[in-house]
Amino acid sequence: MKNFQVAIDGPAGSGKSTISKLIAKELKFQYLDTGAMYRAITYQALALKINLEDDTAYQFIEKLKLEYKNDKMYLNGKDVSLEIRKPNVTNNVSTVAKNKSVRIKMKDFQQKIASNGQVILDGRDIGSNVLPNANLKVFLTATIECRANRRFLENQAAGIKSSLKELLEEIALRDHTDATRKYAPLKKADDAVTIDTTELSINEVCAEIIKLIHERMF
Ligand code: C5P
Repeated sequence: MKNFQVAIDGPAGSGKSTISKLIAKELKFQYLDTGAMYRAITYQALALKINLEDDTAYQFIEKLKLEYKNDKMYLNGKDVSLEIRKPNVTNNVSTVAKNKSVRIKMKDFQQKIASNGQVILDGRDIGSNVLPNANLKVFLTATIECRANRRFLENQAAGIKSSLKELLEEIALRDHTDATRKYAPLKKADDAVTIDTTELSINEVCAEIIKLIHERMF
């Protein structure tokens, strides 16, 4: 099968994973949630109680078995999809993702997965760093109020109590840490198409991206 790569980047809550999952299902592409990978490493780093700021403390990743399949994240064979969404992981993942050694290993892993078939990867540095030659790069944005509100509604639907004010603060801090880090920061690739999703429905964003994929594929 011909290789075709789609890179979807953007700040927290811009709709990347919701949109990417739907497009992958519709077009039968393989989907990789790279944020889930950074979260799984954070989960393990917290369990091991390492100093998260110490770049040399991450050798444990070498022996870690990370798998992303059927929209679920597995760590050494265990499904950790729910654990990696909990506040202790969310509040520490940007610190872990700053480390150079972590980013090098993740990039290598993600590039291997993306080298086969038709894939869609979402994250922060996919278009700008992991897949610089992707066939399509999209940068999703939305106002921070809209992004925090989406998270609030998602939590509500999942029966998780949260405060809009705290979500706003958490998202603003994570975006700042992700955008200002030294290695592979959150950045729009020069050749990415920006879509502001603030006023758009999920279906409208999917339709727009699928149109772009078809234009570049055929
Ligand atoms: O996408 P999600 O919000 O689950 O990502 C969690 C965190 O993982 C981000 O805030 C960022 O620190 C890190 N990340 C990254 N590079 C990626 C994907 C995620 O640094 N490609």
